[in-house]
Amino acid sequence: MLKSAITSFTNFVRPAYELIYPPTCLACECHLADITSRICADCWSKIRRLTSGDDLYCEKLNELVAGGNVSGFASAFHFEKDGVLQNLIHQLKYREMTRVGTELGRLIGESLREMLGGVAFDAIVPIPLHPARERERGYNQSEIICRAVSRDIGVPTRSLLKRIRHTKTQTKLDSRQRKENVAGAFALRRRFARLVDGKMVLLVDDIITTGATVDECARVLKRHGADRVFAASVAVPDHTHLP
Ligand SMILES: [Zn+2]
Repeated sequence: MLKSAITSFTNFVRPAYELIYPPTCLACECHLADITSRICADCWSKIRRLTSGDDLYCEKLNELVAGGNVSGFASAFHFEKDGVLQNLIHQLKYREMTRVGTELGRLIGESLREMLGGVAFDAIVPIPLHPARERERGYNQSEIICRAVSRDIGVPTRSLLKRIRHTKTQTKLDSRQRKENVAGAFALRRRFARLVDGKMVLLVDDIITTGATVDECARVLKRHGADRVFAASVAVPDHTHLP
């Protein structure tokens, strides 16, 4: 009875709401006729999926594994500067657009099945922001993506790490400078120590560029006994599209 009342209420209110506020594409703001995706077909066609056969994927995988702490890697898209995806990620970073995170999280889930299909993860761990930064922004975009990946693959998100010092923005730093910049920036939250020991952990971030940040986070997790640590991201840039 209550359920049917809620359903008929929703069926009545939702079309009225959509009449006043027609749903728009989260990337280009055109009106959407079909709202199964919040991104229009035209925008989707401009974003390139990454596959395990791509040179960029192999290159990035080798780079990450060479760091010594990451065992494998998955990512959903090629990152292109000023492209649709940068616009979406920008919204995720600078506006409260959790819906973008949800949609991207589902696509990372697909890539995980393709690129790391045999791995049974115990926990998904977001790359932490400094607490002051998170307060100012109101949320951590990596955590939003993690929770969406969690819903898709059925593995819990655990915020096991904390950032213990501010780091400079990495945009203008080269690979070596990025490594120095993040060294010692992360620590395990003490009360979670038992959730790390012997576990298979998946670190998730929006864009993995040189991999310095995920490698440093993986190092901390392994030092506390993680069995193996993997990394996943929404996108990876090639050399011509560094964010
Ligand atoms: Zn669009």
